[in-house]
Amino acid sequence: MEQIKNVKGTHDIFGEENNAYESVESLMKSIAEMYAYNGVRPPVLEYNSVFVRGVGEGSDIVRKEMYTFPDKGDRLLTLRPEFTAGIMRLVVQNKLYATSELPIKLYYLGPVFRYERPQLGRYRQFNQFGVESIGNNSPINDVEVIALAYTILVSLGLENVTIKINTLGDEASRENYRKALREYFKDHIENMCEDCKSRYELNPLRILDCKVPEDRPIIDKAPLIGDYLSEPSKIRFEQVQDALSTLQIPYEIDEGLVRGLDYYSETVFEFHYTSKAGVDYGAIGAGGHYGKLMLELGGPELPGVGFSFGIERIVSVLKDDGLLEDIKPSLDAYIMPLGDESLLVGEEIAVLLRNSGGYRVDICFDKTKLGNMFKRATNKNAKFAVIIGEEEIKNDSVIVKNLATQEQLSVKIDDLIEKFDELFSEEETQE
Ligand code: AMP
Repeated sequence: MEQIKNVKGTHDIFGEENNAYESVESLMKSIAEMYAYNGVRPPVLEYNSVFVRGVGEGSDIVRKEMYTFPDKGDRLLTLRPEFTAGIMRLVVQNKLYATSELPIKLYYLGPVFRYERPQLGRYRQFNQFGVESIGNNSPINDVEVIALAYTILVSLGLENVTIKINTLGDEASRENYRKALREYFKDHIENMCEDCKSRYELNPLRILDCKVPEDRPIIDKAPLIGDYLSEPSKIRFEQVQDALSTLQIPYEIDEGLVRGLDYYSETVFEFHYTSKAGVDYGAIGAGGHYGKLMLELGGPELPGVGFSFGIERIVSVLKDDGLLEDIKPSLDAYIMPLGDESLLVGEEIAVLLRNSGGYRVDICFDKTKLGNMFKRATNKNAKFAVIIGEEEIKNDSVIVKNLATQEQLSVKIDDLIEKFDELFSEEETQE
């Protein structure tokens, strides 16, 4: 029978790679929790209008990249291409703004779907981790969100990350800027790509996202937002920079940074990292402040700020730079039953060590030579081997062997948890 392959642009995650995803994701969650964020799980499926209104009709995501289809009841549904709009829909629908202290601080993790051309670091189904802080307009809140993202990247070992920041200003600044862009592109638009022609009508800011090489020279000479900022927006951006400096977070201003989604206003930022071998996966994360998104989704006008990391890209750079070694999972003990009779005793011991001791334990179910069992223990990164032979069964005991020092001792099964606790507290003091 012909084999069925995975869908183009998707990828299977298993084995060591899955361990890497688990470790990276749990570190991200625990740091978000340190910053007092709570988890949230919006559905993967939303009505199409959540993203059309939220992300914007002129954006590449809405124009070209969404998995949108009518369901059997003729509802127009979309597989989420990003989290922020869906989270805002959740906050509005469940009136969290009325029942929670502001800002509402939420983190999320899960797959998103975009119909993009697959290439290095670009998938059609990929995973994002991110946060939203909703209901506070202070520039310091923007900076706290950047600080959280930066703490995560540094904790993963990505110390040389570049943080690019810019401001898109308030509504008045962007209206001035859109006018200037329309004026500038007026004489060029006829010769630009079809996408740019409709972007010109819908939202000329989105012309700046165009990736068509022939259009780039014209776009690169377009006016920059910095010259159209209102006074309050200028001051706000200076406050953001001051706060980043105070918190010793390194940053660069990139005046061309406009982000591809319509909901952003004021501060926007991206995280970039080039691996030691010079591979650039594009932005590993990005985000910004938004003003009117909640209003667009039928709620009150509460601002917010958030970021999103691409887990695939982060795992790739960690792998390239050899930073995954430190987060490789290990076993506390590998149980080695020798002979039929010892298998059930071995399983009992494994369950005891796991349930009463909280140890990470695996057992060898196969009848194989002791030498093979030791190889497996090493492959599984086990600290101790617990060997159960005929002699041990007779004496209600096991042999516990430290795989690093090769020291071994006989321990009564009744004393095993106590002995393990002792051995592990010795290990900890040695470390
Ligand atoms: P965005 O929502 O476009 O700002 O994307 C946030 C992050 O998701 C980016 O910085 C990337 O790390 C990641 N990302 C975006 N698109 C893709 C993709 N097609 N495949 C893998 N990761 C992506």
